[in-house]
Formats: sequence, C-alpha cells, structure tokens
Amino acid sequence: MGEFELIRRYFAAAPCARGGPGVALGIGDDCALLALAPGEQLAVSTDTLTAGVHFPDPCPHAFELGQRALAVSASDLAAMGATPLGFTLALTLPTVEPTWLEALARGLGAMAEQCDLRLVGGDTTRGPLSLTLTVFGRVPTGRALLRSGARPGDLLCLGGAPGEAGGALPFVLGQRAPSGSSSAHLLARYWAPQPQFGLGLWLRGRATAAQDVSDGLVADCGHIATASGVRLVLETARLPVSAALAELFPADEVLRLALGAGDDYLLVFTLPPDQAPALAATWPQAQVIGRVEAGSGVTVLDTLGQPMTPVQAGFQHF
Ligand code: ADP
Ligand code: MG
Repeated sequence: MGEFELIRRYFAAAPCARGGPGVALGIGDDCALLALAPGEQLAVSTDTLTAGVHFPDPCPHAFELGQRALAVSASDLAAMGATPLGFTLALTLPTVEPTWLEALARGLGAMAEQCDLRLVGGDTTRGPLSLTLTVFGRVPTGRALLRSGARPGDLLCLGGAPGEAGGALPFVLGQRAPSGSSSAHLLARYWAPQPQFGLGLWLRGRATAAQDVSDGLVADCGHIATASGVRLVLETARLPVSAALAELFPADEVLRLALGAGDDYLLVFTLPPDQAPALAATWPQAQVIGRVEAGSGVTVLDTLGQPMTPVQAGFQHF
C-alpha cells in the first residue's frame, strides 16, 4: 500500500474527516482552511507521543492509543475554555500493518466524535513510531482561560479525583494483573481520558486561571503559581479520593498518586470565592482543594494542616 492509499483508506475516508462547522476545507489540498467568526481567536496546541517514551513499544493497544493521543491534545483546548474545531495528525510509522492502523484510526475517530473534533490534515512518514497531533479550537477574543490570572483570595479547585491514570500504570506496564471493576476503571481513565470541555466552557469568564493536569497535580499547580506570581496552598484533606484507587492501593500510595502522577487531564483552576456555590451546584465532581495566597510556589498541607515535604516534581523529558 502506498502513502496516498494509506492516507485515503485510514484517514481521509474516516467519518471524522468529513468536515463540519468551521472546516471550510479539509484533507486533500496543501492546507486545510478553518473559518473563525469575527471576534474569535484560534486556540492551537500540539503534542507528540513517541513509542517507548509515552506508550509501550510495541503497542498492541492501537485503538486505545488513538483515543488517548487525541484526548491528551484535546484536553489543552478544554483547559483554555476553547470550543473544539479540528485537528491534524502527523504519523510516523516503521511499517504498514493494516490491522494495527485500522484500529488506531478507529480509536482516533471515536475520541474525535466524543470531542467534536474533525480531522483536517496531517503528514505520513516512515520512521520510529510516533504521533503528533495538533488541535484547533475557537474562543471569543480575550476570553481564553490563561494560567496567569490567579489572585490572592481565590479558591484553588480541581475537576475530579486525581491520580487514577497514574494508578493504571502498573496494569498498563504489565507489573500487576488487572482484575475487577476498579482496575478496569483506572485503565479506562488511562487509555481514554475525558477532556473537560463542558467545565472549561463554564469556567470562561469565571475562573481567574486554569490548566489541565498532565504532569502531576503539584507540578501543574506550580505552573499556575509561577505564571500568576502567587502561592497556591493545596490542602490534601480536601482532595477528592478515587474509590477505585482506594480499593487497590494503600492510603499513602493513593495520596502520592493524587499529588504526583500525571496523565489525568482534569482541569485545575482558581476561582473567586463568590463562584463556589455555582461550582458546587453545576459541577458536583469538582472540588475546592485549597486557596491562593500572596507569595510563590506550591505549599501542600497534610491532613492536619501542616506543610508537607514537596512530593516529586512533575515528569520532565530533559
Ligand atoms: P504535502 O506534500 O502537500 O504536505 P501530503 O502528500 O503530505 O501533502 O498530504 C496530502 C494530503 O493528505 C494533505 O491534505 C494532508 O494534510 C493529508 N494527510 C497526510 N497525512 C495525513 C494523515 N496521517 N492524516 C490526515 N491527513 C493526512
Ligand atoms: Mg506532507
């Protein structure tokens, strides 16, 4: 199968490549054309997943990989409060294995449908397996959720129970055998993270800062603290606890995963206190987990309210 037949069969002919609102021109020309309404900005984010670094090599779970690759990128749009528009896929493959490619394309398509994102282009090359996805969204001019607006007095909030994707890693890596619904739940959170688009849209015009948790809760809170020039105080006693994690891991490990594991793609955000009742009413799975103070960095308080030694920093490639 040649390059163009591969592109056509698995990607250009996929349901998610049919186009839709905002896609003036999709796959097939030198560029795609995306249409924005007057008063809108284009939100753009790109992520690369490399075999052996971001997912096991070889990766038998092609469907899950496709789902996860797109969810990881789409989550950045949610974190900006952007409405999904489209995405491109730059795919590097060592060999063409039709069954594997078909499963990858189906996984991408499933997440594309879930996130309301259309495939508008890409590139296909030979080499060590990697996927680079670039996502596009639209946001009213000046209304995107940035990392830089947190103010002393704001509440620190989180979109759900953290650490679940990290808790799936022993199962993903084959160090522990999955059994029962709790490990299945964690594996689903790892392979099919759910970008919090609804929450991101709701936060537009309410939150003072936001981002998605990809590197670990404490590390990502650190990015908001730095960008905003404030201190974030995280109270571990207020963290939502995952029932699946609590069933499978001892309490100290659950806390370590909640604070330090990446890959959850929950939104962490700061909110003026007068928004707290509306948050609780609209997003019951979200939780106030701390507060913003003058200062710098992240202070983590243990269950007694005492500062803890900072947990490991977030994942860094270099
Ligand atoms: P060019 O040489 O102009 O970059 P290509 O031959 O790489 O064009 O691609 C032809 C068309 O197919 C382009 O519209 C491109 O965006 C699209 N395309 C290539 N690879 C992929 C892919 N993996 N997924 C989706 N679209 C792709
Ligand atoms: Mg090309």
